[in-house]
Amino acid sequence: MSTFSEMADLGHEQLVFCRNDEVGLRAIIGVHNTTLGPALGGCRLWNYANEADALRDVLRLSRGMTYKAAVAGLDLGGGKAVIIGDPASVKNEGLFRAFGRFVESLNGRYITAEDMNTTVEDMNWIGRETRWVTGSAKYAGGSGDPSPVTAWGVFHGIRACLEVVYGSSDVAGRTIAIQGVGSVGYHLARYLHDGGAKLVFSDISERKLAQCVDEFGGRIVDGDDFYGVDCDVLAPCAIGGTINASSIPGIRAPIIAGAANNQLDDEKRDGAAVDKAGIIYAPDYVINAGGLINVYAELKKLPSEKAMADAANIFNTVKVIINKAKAQGITTTQASNQVAEERIEQVARIRRLNLPSRGIEL
Ligand code: NAD
Repeated sequence: MSTFSEMADLGHEQLVFCRNDEVGLRAIIGVHNTTLGPALGGCRLWNYANEADALRDVLRLSRGMTYKAAVAGLDLGGGKAVIIGDPASVKNEGLFRAFGRFVESLNGRYITAEDMNTTVEDMNWIGRETRWVTGSAKYAGGSGDPSPVTAWGVFHGIRACLEVVYGSSDVAGRTIAIQGVGSVGYHLARYLHDGGAKLVFSDISERKLAQCVDEFGGRIVDGDDFYGVDCDVLAPCAIGGTINASSIPGIRAPIIAGAANNQLDDEKRDGAAVDKAGIIYAPDYVINAGGLINVYAELKKLPSEKAMADAANIFNTVKVIINKAKAQGITTTQASNQVAEERIEQVARIRRLNLPSRGIEL
């Protein structure tokens, strides 16, 4: 497929290829849709096997951000950037500052942030060259690590699912299994523990597991045993693609609600399989929007309390989506996609009205 056909297929507005041999920069910025506002999305650094893989990733990820922002009710469009290279060897000040200059050249159409293999410190370098960066360190004027806000949103999304299944959103006494107790999973465990939940942990890091059991009690399960844990909620907070044809048949929990991106290996196939198994699935991009809500608050100079309140509102959003899915006999992901598309279309319609905002000039 040609690049233009791939863009048309997913509905992209713009792709920007960025090259600077002096610092070894090869990056692609994807601007998917700016109907609701500037395209915001993180910058991923990854050692892609080839350029086609990088292109596919930036197209898919930037489209996902459009949906995430739309459902979260933010005035943001969807964008994402990928830098091609080995994180162990290419990172340096020049690389990120060069990337920052390309971001600046888009004059706010794209706003960047952290993603896989890019850190608060990297955002600080980018911020030396452009205003259009979020998530830099608090001492550099940014909002810092978004993980606690993401976890707060996931916590409230879990409460919404519990209310639908059990008639009460209270986490006290409920058993929740968390896969991945990294930045988000750890804070989620803290909120759940404070709410009186019983916890089960799975991670590849013995150190992180030991820290969680030490602080929150609970028990540890090995690897794939996570999926079959007898619990109320499975919360995948590690990697994508874990809800798939081999894991779904063993799942005993009535709810899947976690922070990880792209949990469904195949959105259509696995979304339908989960639904058929009678499991409530909180769409990942809906329940993990707290991080985006946090950087939006940073951009709008809103207090952190407002970001936490908006992340807590994920409770209502998740309920609306589950109820819509039930009413229409569709999967929760189909329902959330519809909510996003309807909102974007409404705003696009208003734009097409083409009414002058400041009177008609001669
Ligand atoms: P992280 O790297 O801090 O934590 C991930 C944890 O998962 C680590 O502790 C790691 O050891 C563990 N892990 C990795 N592979 C595993 C496996 N196979 N089984 C069990 N554990 C495994 O990442 P994070 O920032 O906490 O993000 C977690 C997920 O949430 C990612 O999918 C991320 O894209 C998504 N997410 C994060 C944010 C955020 O604010 N950080 C926002 C939205 C979405």
